[in-house]
Amino acid sequence: MDNTDKKQQVRNERHKARMARLKEKVDAKIAAATDDKGLLLVLTGNGKGKSTSGFGMITRAVGHGLSAGVVQFIKGNWECGERNLLEKVGVSFAVMNTGFTWDTQDREKDIAAAETVWKEAKKLLADPTIDVVMLDEITYMLSYDYLDLDEVLDAISHRPEQQHVIVTGRGAHKQLLEMADTVSEINNTKHAFEAGIKVQKGIDW
Ligand code: ATP
Ligand code: MG
Repeated sequence: MDNTDKKQQVRNERHKARMARLKEKVDAKIAAATDDKGLLLVLTGNGKGKSTSGFGMITRAVGHGLSAGVVQFIKGNWECGERNLLEKVGVSFAVMNTGFTWDTQDREKDIAAAETVWKEAKKLLADPTIDVVMLDEITYMLSYDYLDLDEVLDAISHRPEQQHVIVTGRGAHKQLLEMADTVSEINNTKHAFEAGIKVQKGIDW
């Protein structure tokens, strides 16, 4: 065995020992995680990937035969690729019937639209036959005071015990973060839009 082979052998053995130690730690953590309950997951931050991550979980859930409902609190001017697909497999959608808030520029109208779609969200949050609920972009309704924070937190905390709730949107309220089981903050490292590239079908909507 020449020197290079010996070095490789030592490296392989060290790797094996390190992986065995890691496996022990991971196995212990898996064994300790025994609780089973509906989760509140918050996807926030300024980077791209919040709604797509939420839709990823909805797709994953539906793939396992679970039932899901999506409520979209801000509707863009373009159609939603996920809705086109997921409605076909039984996911219910409720969409706020105004455009982006900076398009409508009408606070009263936005509040009325937010309250109407919130009623649909409340129905889902009270329905034990729905396994996963996604409240897409609801964070803005709370930061603009379009919806009452206490009412939203109350409906989420009194939902059926096994129901999962996914919340997306920038600037998630502190109390929502405290209540959540899982929080991911997606940072904006760079985005094509900043380089003058328009939104791309299948990627951005
Ligand atoms: P996505 O739906 O792609 O997961 P998102 O939910 O994280 O995005 P939103 O703030 O809801 O982000 O933005 C929706 C739209 O704005 C998408 O078309 C997305 O590509 C775009 N977008 C997201 N983040 C940025 C950013 N940092 N700069 C510019 N455009 C962005
Ligand atoms: Mg989004």
